[in-house]
Amino acid sequence: MAAEQELDVVIVGAGFAGLYMLHRCRQQGLSAVVLEAGDDVGGTWYWNRYPGARCDVESLEYSYGFDEDLQQEWEWTERYAGQPEILRYLQHVAERFDLRQDITFGTRVTAAAFDDATTTWRVARDPGADLVARFVVMATGCLSSANVPELPGADTFEGATYHTGRWPKEGVDLAGRRVGVIGTGSSAVQAIPVIAQEAAHLTVFQRTPTYTVPAWNHPLDPAEQAAVKADYAGLRAANRAMFSAFGGRIPRREGSALEVDEAERQAEYERRWALGGLPFLAAFNDLLLDPEANETARRFVLAKLREVVHDPAVAERLTPDHVIGCKRLCVDSGYWATFNRANVTLVDLRETPIDRITPGGVLTTEREHPLDVLVFATGFDAMTGALSRIDIRGVDGQPLTDAWSAGPRTYLGLMTHGFPNLFLVTGPGSPSVLANMVEAIQQHVEWIGDCLDALAAGGFERIEPELEAQDRWVEHVNEVADVTLFPRCSSWYLGANVPGKTRVFMPLPGFPSYVETCQQVVADGYRGFTRR
Ligand code: FAD
Ligand code: NAP
Repeated sequence: MAAEQELDVVIVGAGFAGLYMLHRCRQQGLSAVVLEAGDDVGGTWYWNRYPGARCDVESLEYSYGFDEDLQQEWEWTERYAGQPEILRYLQHVAERFDLRQDITFGTRVTAAAFDDATTTWRVARDPGADLVARFVVMATGCLSSANVPELPGADTFEGATYHTGRWPKEGVDLAGRRVGVIGTGSSAVQAIPVIAQEAAHLTVFQRTPTYTVPAWNHPLDPAEQAAVKADYAGLRAANRAMFSAFGGRIPRREGSALEVDEAERQAEYERRWALGGLPFLAAFNDLLLDPEANETARRFVLAKLREVVHDPAVAERLTPDHVIGCKRLCVDSGYWATFNRANVTLVDLRETPIDRITPGGVLTTEREHPLDVLVFATGFDAMTGALSRIDIRGVDGQPLTDAWSAGPRTYLGLMTHGFPNLFLVTGPGSPSVLANMVEAIQQHVEWIGDCLDALAAGGFERIEPELEAQDRWVEHVNEVADVTLFPRCSSWYLGANVPGKTRVFMPLPGFPSYVETCQQVVADGYRGFTRR
């Protein structure tokens, strides 16, 4: 048999993470390839083409900062860029750094197995022959594995069905159609106002109501963009110092919501409401820590909801009862107001659950809702879904799914004991989805790149976390999460949206202290890792 070419690194996924990882490997003189299931770069922004899709972290902040020329030359057109623009940006990055020649598209990685004898990974892909590499980087995405609930009768539906995260490239003509949307998370909140304008009728099937804050999206003022670019490094640094790695331009307010009187509290909430976006939750420093403080923000937002929605019964059905922010806060452009439209019906699945899908629509316990198109805005098998769909086997052939059967176990969200030389970008146990993900991705890619350099410099071939360090880390993530209000909701952060998935809080709140820990681990000679 001809000897197989051995690569330094195989990277899986060509989104923000995979693209930067490839660039970084090249800069370090490593041979690397990217394998991507989609037909182009973009990841999230390749797949999520549903109407209204856009970022909820401002474009000027939701972008790479690793290259000064890149961040100076790219001009964002809107405060929150739409999916086509973010996709164009990532295509530009691929071209600018000449990345495509090392990316194989339309190729799904099906398995990866570690060979102890040769300290290499064998990566199986479809289509194509296996690849052998010293290191594997899983840049497979936290929100890339669509969650489509198994509803009885789904295969009998005679209309068209779509998932927001698998929206057809050519678009979907909804004009004159009766459309149903299942779900009211961030994707639905963005899609619903746009679909309602196009469809003949829209029926929204809501299981859990959601809190929203206004986006006040608008074309970017060239002067504002120029001001940011005059000190882009300053903004990036300010963001990295923020709890969630964004919003550095909106001064953080220290102190409790309960320390100020009602008038001052309302004024702060009003000010943040007028600014729009996720920094609303940074109005006080205990909104995600103290239920009483949280309740003040919750009441403020619910009053806004009642101002917007005309029918009090509909407003009541749209009213969430969980703490605000423990599921991702949705940033919206006209979501609530859409329920004032004559062509929109809200179905509360808590009152009238779905009985089954019929050939003609959705049958709830109350009645049948006739539909031509059914949209699943039902989210993702988050954080672990893309990994568990690959047959990953570490030392002694141990499957990753076994090692993680009681929930994902990592050290720093970067590596797992028993799986040497396998890195995760924004893995469970790191800030990932609780942060501006582009910042989180860059920090991980740079940590991994530095680690590969340090291994070579030290004459090491192999790195993996010690079991004890990993156990302590998992404990740490749980302790930090338990101080916050995050675990109080049945959210996808906990895996609660996927039936049968183990419920463990997966991301780590608090970007700056996490980064500091990662740096300290390196300064301490890769404390908690075994290198050979
Ligand atoms: P992805 O972009 O998900 O890319 C992973 C890639 O890996 C995919 O292209 C996938 O096809 C590929 N892949 C997975 N498994 C395999 C396999 N087995 N074989 C081959 N290829 C594989 N975050 C924010 O911080 N701010 C936002 O405003 C924001 N908006 C979002 C909007 C939407 C609609 C969604 C779904 C997510 C949003 N996110 C946002 C999170 C977003 O996922 C990240 O910001 C970021 O794009 C993730 O990049 P990534 O490269 O890590 O993963
Ligand atoms: P999501 O937040 O998980 O929302 C899924 C929705 O579908 C929820 O309302 C959920 O209800 C509902 N659902 C799931 N299964 C159901 C079932 N069997 N029957 C009825 N309803 C069901 O998913 P998403 O909206 O795609 O967003 C996922 C994440 O991606 C976001 O939290 C965010 O991080 C990111 N995102 C960001 C943006 C943005 O604004 N830039 C846009 C889209 C996505 P329950 O709440 O009851 O489970």
